[in-house]
Amino acid sequence: MALDIVCGKEVDTAAVNTPVGSIPAGAPETDPAAGTKRYYEGKWYYFCSMACRHKFVATPDEYIKAMPGN
Ligand SMILES: [Zn+2]
Repeated sequence: MALDIVCGKEVDTAAVNTPVGSIPAGAPETDPAAGTKRYYEGKWYYFCSMACRHKFVATPDEYIKAMPGN
């Protein structure tokens, strides 16, 4: 499990990383309903939804600064 740093919900990282099929280009297709993730400055961040991911992408440093331990 990982915490969505935008809304604080727990995200099932295994579900996010489980491919539900593949597109012709070969990139694994995952279920957006299971959550999503984003690679930023050397690490993966997990989100419960695309909405949270969009918020993170808009101002990633704000969320990272607000994380416990930072
Ligand atoms: Zn969220």
